[in-house]
Parts: sequence; structure tokens; C-alpha cells
Amino acid sequence: MIQERNAVKKGAQHFKGVGSHALLVTGKHSAVASGAQKDVTDVLDSLGIPYDVFSQVEENPSLDTVEKGAYFGLEKGADFIIGIGGGSPLDASKAISLLMGTKESTGKDLFNKDIPMKGLFLIAIPTTCGTGSEVTPYAILSLHEQKTKKGMSQRLFPNLAFLDATYLESAPPSLIQYTAVDTLGHLLESYINPHASYYSNMCVEYGMGLWAKKKEHLLTGDFTKEDYEHFLTASSMAGMAISHTGTSLPHAMSYYLTYEKGVPHGKAVGTFLASYVKACPDKKWIGKVEKMLGFSSQGEMKDFIERILGRLSIPEVEGLDCAKALLSNHEKLANCPFHLTKEMAVSMYKESLDFVVKAKRA
Ligand code: NAP
Ligand code: FE
Repeated sequence: MIQERNAVKKGAQHFKGVGSHALLVTGKHSAVASGAQKDVTDVLDSLGIPYDVFSQVEENPSLDTVEKGAYFGLEKGADFIIGIGGGSPLDASKAISLLMGTKESTGKDLFNKDIPMKGLFLIAIPTTCGTGSEVTPYAILSLHEQKTKKGMSQRLFPNLAFLDATYLESAPPSLIQYTAVDTLGHLLESYINPHASYYSNMCVEYGMGLWAKKKEHLLTGDFTKEDYEHFLTASSMAGMAISHTGTSLPHAMSYYLTYEKGVPHGKAVGTFLASYVKACPDKKWIGKVEKMLGFSSQGEMKDFIERILGRLSIPEVEGLDCAKALLSNHEKLANCPFHLTKEMAVSMYKESLDFVVKAKRA
């Protein structure tokens, strides 16, 4: 992991010897708008390494898109991957790397951990400050057949990550706000997690300190170069933490809002954070978390998040269905340190969202 201004250009030597033809995996605009793509192609041109660009990654990338990207990369003869963008292109680049590196595989194999898969050399360059995907082995894909988002079962850490906070400067304030709230989610869900360790907590505590120092700027949406640096670093600290622990209930609860209602990932996760913290029975631990984040009470944290995100509403019947579904999400329940009852699940949804009851026709 190389983090500094101009990291890509200063680290040009790291592109040598990793492959002979690069596939750049990007979204439609952000890689170019942030300046990251030009830095990469300047370096590749200077080293005489040919490249092709797959720029079709949508937000919350689908399995279809990554299959298409892998097919494109193989056809072009690429033998290493450079993912540039927010979590969506970075996650897609991991899936594409695995599919290209294991030629006989299909998209479904990404969700079967018993099938051995090997990725191509992967470089990750983030342009948002939320997912930490550049340092995690996870990739979340939209599965249209199942009408949901799901983390792939295969794991792949990028081989190399370049972090340059100047790439955040082209982002609209709301993107920084939402992705910084995603970071907060990773920090909290890693800390309040049965798999937390000395190492994950070390990353969380450092990340919370950075986040807390700059959090007031999330309310105004005015960011300085130093703010971008802090939020980017907090994001990768949080990424390292969830690489140890995984995420917990707020992430599980977010997927419905994102898939069915189009709510951006960070906003959807942030909606459920205060109720997750409130549900945790270990109040001493929670007091410590609030102190690290610079809040004097749980209520203050809830208000702060709502001032950034606003409050979402959902038909009551859908909220109750979501609560039921959460109780059968065994993978995420395993990352929650307390026993979740049906009543607790329902109140977490009710506290986090406004339940709208449809009026009956007269
Ligand atoms: P994103 O979905 O990658 O991007 C959101 C939007 O912001 C896109 O329109 C993108 O444009 C634009 N954008 C990104 N960077 C920009 C910049 N610097 N300037 C201007 N526009 C920019 O956002 P994200 O929140 O970073 O990623 C969310 C995804 O990551 C979700 O699918 C989520 O499930 C996943 N995730 C993964 C992990 C993990 O560990 N792997 C953890 C949490 C979440 P383009 O479309 O042009 O790129
Ligand atoms: Fe997340």
C-alpha cells in the first residue's frame, strides 16, 4: 500500500514486471474525472505497457457486468488488472481478476468457496473514502436473479494499492459524506463484532480518531485537502479492520434499501448504525466508542448521522419483512456479538426508518 500525493507517478517502478498488458477496470466517469486514469496511463505509456479500458462498471456492479469485463479482458490478452474508482469498480476488478485468472470458471464459482480460484495481479486505486476495498478481500455484487446484493465467497486481496487523496477532490460533497459514513459503519461493525481482535481494534481505534477529528466538516460539506487525507486514511484503516472481522447487521440491513430503493451504499448503511449501537448490551464498551468518536451520548451520534443523511421511510409491511429476513441471514448474524431476537430486529428497523402505513380504501 502506497499512500502519498502523486503516489501513482512516484511509484511507477511498481508497475514493472507485474504483467505485459493491463486491463483498466473503471466506472463511466470517475476514473477520468478524478485524474487517476491519466496518471495510470501516463505511467503505462512511459513503461511501454499496452492497456485496454473496461469502463462499464455501474454502481453496485452486477455479476453480468463482471462476466462481461472478464470476457473483454481475455479477448484483449490482458494479464494484469488495474481497478480505479469507488468500491464498485474496485469490487468488480477483484471478480474480473478471479474470472480471468481461472479461465475455466464461471460467474457462479465466485459464490462457491470450495472451488479453487486464482486471480491475476491486481492494483487498486480508490477515488472515494468509504469501502476500503483496496485493502479488503471482499467484493459485493448485485445478483439480479436473486434480486439482492451479495458478497462473493471467494476472497482476493489486491496485490498493490495506491492511495492519493487528490482523487477525492472531484467528488461531490454528498459522495464524501456518504462514503465517510460507510467508513464509520465499517469501524463500528468491526468493533462491535465477536471476531474483533487486538489487530482489528488497533485499526478501528486509529480510524475512529481520524474520523472524529474531521467529522464536523461532514455537516457542512466543505472539505480541505487535509480532510480528504483523513477520511481516505480512516477508510483504509476501516477496510483493514473488516478484513479481520467482516461487517455485521447494518450492512446486512442496507442491501434491501440499495437494491430495491436505489439508496447509495453509505447512506443505506448509516441509516442503521445508531440502532445497532443501541442494541449492543455492553454499555461500557459503547461508552468507549462514543468517546473515541467525540460524541457525548448515543442520542448525539444518532442526531449527527441523521443531520448528514436525513431520514428514510419505507412501507411498514416491507420493514417487517426485512426484519424477518435479517433473522435468517446467518452469515451476518455470526458477526453480531449479541443474540438478536425478533422484537429487537423489528425495533432496529422502526428506530432507523419511518414506517409508512398505507391507508385502506374506504
Ligand atoms: P461507487 O458505487 O463506486 O461510486 C458511486 C458514484 O460516485 C459513481 O457514480 C461514481 O462514478 C462516482 N464517483 C466515484 N469516485 C468519484 C470521484 N472521485 N469524483 C466524482 N465521482 C466519483 O461508490 P462507493 O460508495 O465507493 O462503493 C459502493 C460499492 O462498494 C457498493 O457496491 C458496496 O456494496 C461496495 N462495498 C464494498 C466493500 C468491500 O469491502 N469490498 C465494503 C463496503 C462496500 P463512476 O460510475 O463514474 O465510477
Ligand atoms: Fe460498506
